[in-house]
Amino acid sequence: MNSNKPFAELTTSAGCLKGIGPKRRKDLERAGVRTIEDLLFHLPFRYEDRRTVRAIASLRAGERALFGGEVVSAEVQKTRRRRFSLFRAVIEDDSGRMLALWFNQPYLADTIKPGYKISLFGEVRDSGFGGGILEAQNPQFEIGRDAAGETGVVPVYEKVGSVPGRVIRLAVADLLEHYRLPLPASVPPSVMERLGLFPTEKALRFIHMPPPDADVAQLNAWSHAAQRSLVFEEFFMLQAGLALRRRTARDETVGISFKTSPQIRETLRKMLPFRLTEGQRQALKEIVEDMTAAQPMRRLLQGDVGCGKTIVALLAAALAVENGYQAVLMVPTEILAGQHFVSVGRHLSHTRYRTALLTGSLAAGEKERVRQAVAAGEIDLVVGTHALIQEGVEFRRLGLAIIDEQHRFGVLQRARLMGGGAQWEPDVLIMTATPIPRSLTLTVFGDLSLSVIRDMPPGRQPPVTAARSERSLGRINAFLETQMKEGRQIYAVAPVIEESKNGELQTATELHERLQRTFPHRRVGLLHGRMKPAEREAAMAAFVGGETDILACTTVIEVGVDVPNATVMLIENADRFGLSQLHQLRGRVGRSEHRGYCILLYKPGGSENARQRLEIMVKTSDGFEIAEKDLELRGPGDFFGTRQSGMPTLRVGNIIRDAEMLQAARREAFELIAGPGSGEERERGELIETVRSHWERRYGLVLIG
Ligand code: ADP
Ligand code: MG
Repeated sequence: MNSNKPFAELTTSAGCLKGIGPKRRKDLERAGVRTIEDLLFHLPFRYEDRRTVRAIASLRAGERALFGGEVVSAEVQKTRRRRFSLFRAVIEDDSGRMLALWFNQPYLADTIKPGYKISLFGEVRDSGFGGGILEAQNPQFEIGRDAAGETGVVPVYEKVGSVPGRVIRLAVADLLEHYRLPLPASVPPSVMERLGLFPTEKALRFIHMPPPDADVAQLNAWSHAAQRSLVFEEFFMLQAGLALRRRTARDETVGISFKTSPQIRETLRKMLPFRLTEGQRQALKEIVEDMTAAQPMRRLLQGDVGCGKTIVALLAAALAVENGYQAVLMVPTEILAGQHFVSVGRHLSHTRYRTALLTGSLAAGEKERVRQAVAAGEIDLVVGTHALIQEGVEFRRLGLAIIDEQHRFGVLQRARLMGGGAQWEPDVLIMTATPIPRSLTLTVFGDLSLSVIRDMPPGRQPPVTAARSERSLGRINAFLETQMKEGRQIYAVAPVIEESKNGELQTATELHERLQRTFPHRRVGLLHGRMKPAEREAAMAAFVGGETDILACTTVIEVGVDVPNATVMLIENADRFGLSQLHQLRGRVGRSEHRGYCILLYKPGGSENARQRLEIMVKTSDGFEIAEKDLELRGPGDFFGTRQSGMPTLRVGNIIRDAEMLQAARREAFELIAGPGSGEERERGELIETVRSHWERRYGLVLIG
């Protein structure tokens, strides 16, 4: 590379480049492409092989190719449609003939004339004239030349705003030809070398201006080393930041080293009315290892609804209490807090642990009494809602915080409920019932350790699931009636279709009215997100208490309250839900000795894709499998529904397509930053500096440590 070239600052506006005037510059900016750096990472999505001129006879329908010859005839064709014209030319080379068509460009008659030499580039297809005659529609062309326009391996770009891909190609080429790029340091060279990766600048040059001998198939498959290098780099820098966070938590905070003893183990064993599943045992082992270590635990416990996370968390709490510390279990809703409190009492009945429930519905005096007892260290285990506990409960000796997030995310910032002036950081265990695909876990929760329970307690039968057209509503209603005759209860859920404020209200009330008409002798409850929290809790409580037979609702019931007597989950317009959401809903039934049923209703004549998604639900009840499929179908951006996940945006990597790269990058980054020192402390220090400035530039986040 010519070292006399000037540097281009990465933060320079893309407007300084060739072909990009003030109007295009504005357009690019609106689409998020502001700087030279943004433009450099706007990568081609496809490559065209324009290296060889193909003989017409060798072309196959479906190919994009460069070809050419002599114009045999050329004329504007009459068509019946008004305002639609067709210009057609017959092209011939030594091997054969084919057609080229241009729509609504009658003026081409002045440019393309019989007898001219022409070269063309475009996709060829069967002309429909028979005899294997091919045609090209609206091909690019050039008169009097052997090749159309550019030759070689030509990158193709998505247009940005109204700026055509071709303009972007030329601007980037201009940039790369005339400037040197002061790209910041990134992945250490030793790692690059070992993995056979290109340094960033070399990779960018290759991707934007592939040499004539580049492997086009590889580039189009997105598997070229140059492309993989950029993907690796992006993942590596992300993971290195997460590793740095983990390392900071480990090295710069003081945790509690809980002790175990045969006696403590015996106490814990007595709490168990059943044998732990293999998955529970493994998770518990990982948690206990963290708790006995000197660094504070930051662990995420994942597992489908009903897999038995709560008992595992309770055992962890018992370990904390046996060590003389307090534990807290935080849950999202009051009802859930109540349910947990009851089951905690059951499990701990043989101990002398002092427990307390702390929720908003307690009388003010009672609340104050609990607060004081907690502060005085007279309570060992507190169960309460997130909101209340974070509002200001002081613990005397908090050792373990268990946060049941159910289906919400973005808790990391909120997990700060540390005791007043304690000299240690309590251990934190976050539980989630949403099976999250591994690749997503690594990006969103990448700084947490992960325990996953994949098995279910023995004897648990997944709900019978069926996808049915609304035409069978009659038979379905008859089935619902039999269930209710047996004393069972039913959830009926409808998606909120309208975005409007009242959409939810309308959807739920309509469903409620319809059900009440269909089952006039039954009590139908109503629950939706537009109700006041107190009304909602009351509606839920009525269902829990068996006062209503059917609960017509929107997805507010996702949050995991246990109603063992509810056996049917009827879901309207089921194809409007994400797979993961359907799975969560289904998990609400079949949690007792009664068999559960999940009926997925769809409107007749829906799309094939919608049917396919429902088919997946019918086929499997493995939440992780469903989550992977969901991610595949919807893409990472939409996986969590709204953008509440704290999911970092990626510009070249794709966690599905590049899952292996993500794993590799994570391994390398954690080894280098958080691994045991290999004696190269200076190198590590440099890398940490690099990672810090990268996170500030890319994610606007300041990393300490
Ligand atoms: P999660 O919190 O993961 O949704 P829970 O901890 O509430 O699940 O467990 C669901 C039900 O299964 C509870 O009634 C619990 O007592 C029971 N359970 C948990 N683990 C086991 C086990 N190993 N064997 C039998 N029953 C179990
Ligand atoms: Mg610890």
